[in-house]
Amino acid sequence: MVLPSFCYFLQVWDYTGLGYTKYTASDVETDILGCVVENRVLQSSLLSCLQNNTEFQKTVYPSRLTSMTVGLLTKTNSAASRMAKLDLCDGTSLFAKLVVGADGGKSRVRELAGIKTTGWNYSQNAVICTVKHTAENHCAWQRFLPAGPIALLPIGDKFSNIVWTMTPREASDCKAMSEDDFLKSVNHALDYGYGPHPHAESFPGDKSWEVPPKVIELASERMVFPLSLKHAKDYVANRVVLIGDAAHTVHPLAGQGVNLGFGDASAFSKIIADGVAVGADLGELSLLKKYEAERKPANFMMTAILDGFQKAYSVDLGPVNILRAAAFQVAQYVSPIRRNIISYATGRQKWPLLF
Ligand SMILES: Cc1cc2nc3c(=O)[nH]c(=O)nc-3n(C[C@H](O)[C@H](O)[C@H](O)COP(=O)(O)OP(=O)(O)OC[C@H]3O[C@@H](n4cnc5c(N)ncnc54)[C@H](O)[C@@H]3O)c2cc1C
Repeated sequence: MVLPSFCYFLQVWDYTGLGYTKYTASDVETDILGCVVENRVLQSSLLSCLQNNTEFQKTVYPSRLTSMTVGLLTKTNSAASRMAKLDLCDGTSLFAKLVVGADGGKSRVRELAGIKTTGWNYSQNAVICTVKHTAENHCAWQRFLPAGPIALLPIGDKFSNIVWTMTPREASDCKAMSEDDFLKSVNHALDYGYGPHPHAESFPGDKSWEVPPKVIELASERMVFPLSLKHAKDYVANRVVLIGDAAHTVHPLAGQGVNLGFGDASAFSKIIADGVAVGADLGELSLLKKYEAERKPANFMMTAILDGFQKAYSVDLGPVNILRAAAFQVAQYVSPIRRNIISYATGRQKWPLLF
């Protein structure tokens, strides 16, 4: 099993050679900027924490939810009317005071609770895979290309994950091409392809621009995912709460999806703990609304920022390119703004640009 890999640097640049910024852990006086953790590692760690915890009773049902009925079971005010009934595909039925929908972007809980979403599909797909490169890597690299960004994210040793956004047509070509051609395309995209390097000499010390490590081997299959933005109109309904991608799906260009979900889980657990402390009914809408009030504006803000980035990089026009480069320069040279961006992106700060 691959362990979390620490990132000490983040280098972001674009194909025009004008936009460039590099962040280091020392910018925010920490040892590391962030961690890259593979989804399966995260999931199995969380499951084993749950299984090893002896403080409460738990049962894991490895079955899919098929239907849900809330508060319609018997007469009002009876105990059963304060329960949700969940039917699983193996025929089991469960009763719960509160249902937490953490079932991803196509959430069945959200659908069954009748919660609507707003959003749109991006005309972009992401190609993801694991690659091996020449040297050990502790930097997260991201280059914005005309069709979308390519990211090389360290997962330990000489391995990194690629998340490469492009048009659906390009994505199917990338998946179908030979391994050799794919590796050539990746190296082309991370180095001289599409446009010049930023002027390395103009950045002092550990801020100087570097060429990412050369990718030499494909270490997994290539998978393609369509990208979309989705935000639930409500995060809560009677006895139901949504967290993570069930409540919001964002563009992966800044690797924020899981951070937002962690923010939800943390806020929600505090509100539930407060509710337990005063003996509240945990499925009561007024209690759940506190969670929605805490998380929805913050998630909405991040969703809008990421969507803005996606749109700003969907245009290839001289004046727009210069404006983007100017924004990069501000992010690179104005220290309080740089610190703010890092604190916000790493989840240390709830709102952007707080001084
Ligand atoms: C291409 C791509 C790259 C990404 N890169 C990054 C990145 O670098 N960093 C980052 O932070 N985020 C990234 N994300 C986003 C990240 O993957 C999601 O934000 C994250 O996985 C959401 O976690 P979740 O637990 O809310 O939902 P999910 O990970 O979708 O998990 C939902 C779970 O619910 C289960 N489930 C679904 N329906 C049912 C049902 N009916 N009954 C029972 N169980 C059900 C599923 O099996 C699954 O286990 C990326 C996304 C994409 C598409």
